[in-house]
Amino acid sequence: MQQVARFQSITLITPTAAIAADAHGGRAKCLQRLVRLDLPVPKTIALSFDAVSQIAKGQMPDMAGILAPFGYDPLLSIRPSSQDPDWGGPGAILNIGMNPSQHRRLCDRMGEPAATRLYLRFVQSYAVHVHRLDPEAFDFPDCTDSEALKRSLEAYEFEADEAFPDDPAVQLAEALRSMARAWDGTSARLLREAKGAPADAGLGLVVQAMAMGLGDGECGAGVIQYVNSNTGMPQVTGRYVAQSLRRQALIDADNAIYLTRDKRGPSLEDRSPAVFEQLIAIGDICRRTLREEMAVEFTIESGTLWILDAVRVPRASQAAVRIAVALACDEIIPREEAVMRIQPTALTELLHRQVDPRAQRDIIVKGIAASPGAATGRIVFTSNDAQASAARGEGCILVRRETTPEDIRGMHAAHAVLTMRGGITSHAAVIGRGLGLPCVVGASALIIDRKEGCIVAADGRKFAEGEIITVDGTTGEVLVGAPVMVEAALDDAFQTLLQWADDVRDIGVRANADTPDDAQTARNFAAEGIGLCRTEHMFFSGDRLGVMREMIFADNADDRRAVLDRLMPMQRADFAALFEIMAGLPVCIRLFDPPLHEFLPSDKAGLRDLSEQLALPVAKVTERVAALAEYNPMLGMRGVRLGIAIPEIYEMQARAIFEATVDANKNGAGVVPEIMIPVVSAMREVELVKSRIDAVAASVRTCRKYDFEYRLGVMVETPRAALRAEDIAQHAEFLSFGTNDLTQMTYGLSRDDAGRFMSAYVQQGVYAEDPFHSLDIEGVGELLSIGAERGRKGRSNITLSLCGEHGGTRSAIDFCRKQGFDYVSCSPFRVPGARLSAAQLTLIDKMKPAI
Ligand code: PEP
Ligand code: MG
Repeated sequence: MQQVARFQSITLITPTAAIAADAHGGRAKCLQRLVRLDLPVPKTIALSFDAVSQIAKGQMPDMAGILAPFGYDPLLSIRPSSQDPDWGGPGAILNIGMNPSQHRRLCDRMGEPAATRLYLRFVQSYAVHVHRLDPEAFDFPDCTDSEALKRSLEAYEFEADEAFPDDPAVQLAEALRSMARAWDGTSARLLREAKGAPADAGLGLVVQAMAMGLGDGECGAGVIQYVNSNTGMPQVTGRYVAQSLRRQALIDADNAIYLTRDKRGPSLEDRSPAVFEQLIAIGDICRRTLREEMAVEFTIESGTLWILDAVRVPRASQAAVRIAVALACDEIIPREEAVMRIQPTALTELLHRQVDPRAQRDIIVKGIAASPGAATGRIVFTSNDAQASAARGEGCILVRRETTPEDIRGMHAAHAVLTMRGGITSHAAVIGRGLGLPCVVGASALIIDRKEGCIVAADGRKFAEGEIITVDGTTGEVLVGAPVMVEAALDDAFQTLLQWADDVRDIGVRANADTPDDAQTARNFAAEGIGLCRTEHMFFSGDRLGVMREMIFADNADDRRAVLDRLMPMQRADFAALFEIMAGLPVCIRLFDPPLHEFLPSDKAGLRDLSEQLALPVAKVTERVAALAEYNPMLGMRGVRLGIAIPEIYEMQARAIFEATVDANKNGAGVVPEIMIPVVSAMREVELVKSRIDAVAASVRTCRKYDFEYRLGVMVETPRAALRAEDIAQHAEFLSFGTNDLTQMTYGLSRDDAGRFMSAYVQQGVYAEDPFHSLDIEGVGELLSIGAERGRKGRSNITLSLCGEHGGTRSAIDFCRKQGFDYVSCSPFRVPGARLSAAQLTLIDKMKPAI
């Protein structure tokens, strides 16, 4: 049996006609809404996706049926109507129906020169855009309009081998056919697919009676919107060109006049106050009933206003947030809908300066976008030079093959970081995100030529030390020079939206923060605490590195303890600062993790400096550094292994944490510190460390005559810790999954080297995505589920969280919510996006029908 089509292929748009966005496209549906609002919309016919697809195949619809509602001798426009306006479509074709008799009528109405110009434009546009003839054959720059019209008609006949069609039905049929076919072209398909359109996306077309912006009285065309596209603030903007047709008004900057009254020149408000008022009222009606800020396209025909179209105002991220919040504040949309309307990635954009989307981009190289935002500065190749540059007040970009912990001061001083090696969890990437520093890593096509003091791009261009470049950590591109930037925008609308997100979300969001600056950023972004403080980062700054090195070189436990006694007050001050900033919110401090050799220099100059500092022969220092080297440091003596082998380090840290807690609590802070043990793989490790930390706690309680509580937990970042979570939970009040190491160890994939082949792996579909970037739900996720389930078996009220770099991603947040985790923890700059993602996921779940 033949299926009855859901919609007619040709439908006159009336308030009650059966029109749907998924059958006729967004423009047709929007026009129907405008018609329902009783706005003055010229008569319009909608052609369905089916009809247009048939036209592309050569099956023409009933042309008489399309033309009938427009009466005798119509003048029409055709515009595309794809399902989502962002998917684009072929350009509009205006003035279908122009022929000698129409020309005569228009001569009477608007005068011969205007009518002839219109006719000429139509012939040229029809020849080039409908019949696809060579534009040069229709270019007569030295002729008058009427001569050019005559020659254009002749040229058409010559080029097309037929007379120019006068019959509106023929013109319409040909124009429909050319637009339908353009939609099927390869480049149009690729363009819309890049914007998310499905392969079989349909095109609708709307055929509308032309409103003439030419003639007697106030005539013209324009576009008006009621908010600023960059900021979202209320502002009437747009343009109006008297005596013009739609397309001309959009491009004719020279003749455009202001819309609102303006001292600098004439305005529509002055020329036609009644029409202007009508337009303002229409903006308000559209906003309230279409629940959106619209840009309205209009034509004035001898003083009468026609609304031709309305589209969602194009908007930058800052404007998107303000518009959504304002609509909710005016009770036009619910708050939940405002929360749903904003992409979390758009929020991230607002936290950083960005390259202006309209700026020219001269790309030197593209690497991995590791930390968002953009910064411009002079190229430097060493951390010392970065610091010197900062001291001179000059912004710089630190360019390194890869960064190591020794570069931390240089990174602090730089405006952005660029590395040739490393992936999304490499040192540069993690620190960059923590500092909110734009960062591009793994730019492997770039070569550093240290001899010549320059970087060399794949195309051979050289950029010398001191030259200005821009790192765009949002796109992963490195650009020549200093393109125009747009500033970060944390305005009241941003804060309001996130407050609404917090009201609905059902999973906590903490920040990974190592320094007081990080903690302050975390507070500014309303993180609910610190989920991971990597304490080793505290040893790389200031004068601590020297003391740390002395500790590493100590010959015995007593000497080591003596040096650690000097480090303890520094650590205590670090923790005190974090507790103060976090004001009673939980702070989870991870005990020392990396291998000790990371604190030692690797080059000759560094070794010489160190031998001077320690008053030891260079040979001895070199020998000691070599002795500490490991074949595979990531799997070597790090984390709890170091804590077991050299217990004094953890004891010092525990004492510093507890003393800072006592000091804070004496001032009424109510701190309950959380201490986390890294790289655990066996229950006995936890037991041993716990008993030592308990002993330190008892000693501090006695010495300071002050009681306090603390929570001890385990970082689950080895597969074995996940599998043995039940045992481990006997001694741990919380488990925090470190998915960076857990991914590394589950895949057996070095997080610092994966960048070298990851793109080949992703391109060939070996991995759907870089698992360091996007949580591998199937594999690593299974270990997380097992760890969570077994952890709960060991301790029913155990706190569960995820603190790897994945913590800020939507898919990981989704996974953690489903597993009933208590919170995720991510870099401070990812906190707002995580809060919004968590809220959106909660709302999506609420909207699902109960099964
Ligand atoms: C992890 O391994 O997931 C983690 C958070 O720790 P780090 O990145 O410091 O190894
Ligand atoms: Mg780790």
